[in-house]
Amino acid sequence: MSNFTQTNGNYSKIYAKSEVSARFASKFPISYNTAMDKSQALREALVELFGDAFSVNVPLSAMSSFEIGGPADFFYEARRLEDLRAAVALAVRQRAPYRVIGGGSNILFADEGFRGLIIRNRTEGTAYGEGRLRVLSGTSLSALLRAALKTDLTGLEFLVGIPGTVGGAVSGNAGAFGRSVADVLESAVILEPGGAERTIPGEDLGFGYRNSSLRKSSGIVLEAVLASSPGDRKASEALMRDHLETRRTKHPPWGTPCAGSYFKNPCSTDGCKVAAGRLLDEAGARGMSVGGAAVYEKHCNFIVNTGNATCRDVLLLAQKMKDKVQAKFGVRLEEEVIHLPADASSV
Ligand SMILES: Cc1cc2nc3c(=O)[nH]c(=O)nc-3n(C[C@H](O)[C@H](O)[C@H](O)COP(=O)(O)OP(=O)(O)OC[C@H]3O[C@@H](n4cnc5c(N)ncnc54)[C@H](O)[C@@H]3O)c2cc1C
Repeated sequence: MSNFTQTNGNYSKIYAKSEVSARFASKFPISYNTAMDKSQALREALVELFGDAFSVNVPLSAMSSFEIGGPADFFYEARRLEDLRAAVALAVRQRAPYRVIGGGSNILFADEGFRGLIIRNRTEGTAYGEGRLRVLSGTSLSALLRAALKTDLTGLEFLVGIPGTVGGAVSGNAGAFGRSVADVLESAVILEPGGAERTIPGEDLGFGYRNSSLRKSSGIVLEAVLASSPGDRKASEALMRDHLETRRTKHPPWGTPCAGSYFKNPCSTDGCKVAAGRLLDEAGARGMSVGGAAVYEKHCNFIVNTGNATCRDVLLLAQKMKDKVQAKFGVRLEEEVIHLPADASSV
């Protein structure tokens, strides 16, 4: 793996040791009397570590493809791996709620925002060697696909048109057209909340349908190694065009505020997946709306923000949609979009 070509970002820093302070913090946590003390202590720690390179009261609507969400108390954008590690270590040491986000394309923020630190992962870079693509987790899936095309690697075409970052895609096992990240992820470097960093083979990441064990463990993806095979670049481009055309006919137009499919496709009694959109359509969800949140007219599994939707509108609408499907089919739909409450703890 020594002959990698750096294509972007600070790739050489990938193997730096994790922050000792995070390990230390998990053993000797700080305690506070009030929420105010905690917030003040977090602010002071952020100033000490990052100077003025973090922000306060940042509207999360700007960080989300749904364009919904009130202010986060603190917001930090990590462009280098060491900054991502340091921000997580700081939040752990301060015992402050935090969340690492990528493109914000699968998340519903609360109207009240978030009482803690939102860390946006902007660590970007890809490197190729020995038939594998290594990629930093803040890299967008579109940049990943461009890198794959450049090196004539194929097998990742199913990811075309999915917004967001590699980290978000690994954590949620993103997929389409019958394939998902679990099929192509060889290994990932994971930062554990305690500060340890481990390289974990894909098969040990507990992948399931739009799920991985990282969702429970709060492990942060720092880097991913994707297996893809040399192939015909022209055929790869043609396949991606086909996929994009299929997506264009089914999905809301690009840029429509939404977070992709709202519900997971449930399993029928024979174990096969049933399209949640079809169940919702047959149960009568088409045309439903609450406030500014509406069921997308051409695909009932999309909730779109028609302009002034609140998180509350979306949650109410989603509940009504679930109730309809439950009443008609006896099936309980499960959310694919992640709702982050304002007072969520980190783990
Ligand atoms: C128009 C549209 C179409 C979509 N189509 C599809 C589709 O076809 N298939 C599909 O699977 N999804 C689809 N999605 C949903 C979304 O794009 C994917 O789930 C994507 O992988 C989310 O990545 P993200 O970086 O935006 O994650 P975010 O929304 O930022 O975060 C989602 C979750 O992942 C966690 N996370 C983010 N980065 C990391 C990290 N580095 N380490 C650990 N956890 C992390 C966050 O904490 C959060 O819990 C679509 C969304 C939209 C808006």
